[in-house]
Amino acid sequence: MTGPKHSCGVVGINAENNVVPALQKSLMIIQHRGQESAGVSVYNSEGTIDTVKDNGLVQTALPKYMLSKLHGTVGIGHVRYPTTGTKIDGNAQPLTATTRYGPLAIAHNGDITNFDTLKEMYLASGWSFFTDSDSELVTKIFSKYSAQHIDPIKALKATCGELDGAFSLVMLVDNRLFGIRDPRGMRPLCIGRIRDGYMLVSESAAIDALNGELIRDVMPGEIVEITPTEIISYPYNTSSPKAHCMFEWVYFARPDSVMDGREVYEVRRKIGEVLARESPADVDLIMPIPDSGRAHAIGFSVESRIPYEEGFMKNRFAERTFILPDQRQREAAVSTKMNPIKSTVNGKRILIVDDSIVRGTTLKKLISMLRGAGATEVHVRIGCPPVIAPCYYGVDMKTRDQFIATGHSVDQIRQIIGADSLAYISVRGLIEAVGIPEGDLCLACVCGKYPTSIPGEVHRYQSTLGEGFVGKSE
Ligand code: SF4
Repeated sequence: MTGPKHSCGVVGINAENNVVPALQKSLMIIQHRGQESAGVSVYNSEGTIDTVKDNGLVQTALPKYMLSKLHGTVGIGHVRYPTTGTKIDGNAQPLTATTRYGPLAIAHNGDITNFDTLKEMYLASGWSFFTDSDSELVTKIFSKYSAQHIDPIKALKATCGELDGAFSLVMLVDNRLFGIRDPRGMRPLCIGRIRDGYMLVSESAAIDALNGELIRDVMPGEIVEITPTEIISYPYNTSSPKAHCMFEWVYFARPDSVMDGREVYEVRRKIGEVLARESPADVDLIMPIPDSGRAHAIGFSVESRIPYEEGFMKNRFAERTFILPDQRQREAAVSTKMNPIKSTVNGKRILIVDDSIVRGTTLKKLISMLRGAGATEVHVRIGCPPVIAPCYYGVDMKTRDQFIATGHSVDQIRQIIGADSLAYISVRGLIEAVGIPEGDLCLACVCGKYPTSIPGEVHRYQSTLGEGFVGKSE
């Protein structure tokens, strides 16, 4: 609700039976990762790839009558939130192309950070582009290497060697299904076993929905080939420092997903516990901002032994606020979407817990609504340190001027949103809650030091952020 927009979600399935229903179901499970467009591609019995894709949610973009025309035992799917490339039909994925190996379909989650340089290079060599999506660039590079190598694995490895940044890819190369994760493992991708085959997907919750079993994550710097009966590994760069996106645990991923060995719900509860120890408050009840702050608030309540209550009713059928075209309309839509429960709130000192603050405008409106419903004090605790720097790795936080924490102290932010007190989890506290070594995490948007080189930004060497920074509590 108050956090940044999502990145994208991908799925690939190779099984003994028609995979189209399972692809569609998986995309619905990972719908939260992208709502602008959805698509599926399947390899058919005639040796070509059929694709259905359109703008909109899965149920709109992939209507049953269209999906009923698709049939195949291997296929991929995608839900998109555009981070490179604008919202036009041509950018909906999967993207398709033709290579020497046969037809190709590709679905991508992440951002290729050397996109501009590579695109210029390929344009100068006479290649043409039909979209402004970095995923098309990947198909072009793969096409180039497919002309040079008989073995598609060699072409895939050479393609990955040109790319920098964040990428989790699923690719249909003729009738073969591949999954690829960038060498830092910035965006998630995991492997599951289902009844009649194997699958690749951004989040393990989709494996659960198909009554499957999570086998493992695709390793950073690994290409895997998935057949109906086996997983074949082709590591291409497994020695790079890791940089898993901390925001996946804080906000993006579903609480019931497991990423890189850490369950999202468990991490969020721990964030709440750490917050309660770092920034306690004398209040009557703990309340989440539904739904994203719920697990954090439960953790805070358990650790502080202050009762937990649901104080906001959320209208699940209201228009999603972030798709509205301007901030004024988004703010107006908040009251359609959320309403305080007066009997819970009236006369109480309340502490609300949310996952993160980017702009702060929604939170300001919610605090004012709580006061209007009779809350005597409203305190705020945030499960992510202040967001101060843009994300170049597949999340729509592109410019510093959109962050309330840029140029404002914590007390100034408290005054702007109208809270009685405000505290963020410290960077060290967040690292403790995620439970993954600091050197294996991307923390760039909260520390301003990037795990890859980005022109004009500070490059962080992954071993440490430096003493003083991780311990800094806002
Ligand atoms: Fe995730 Fe922030 Fe790094 Fe982007 S900059 S990958 S949102 S931790």
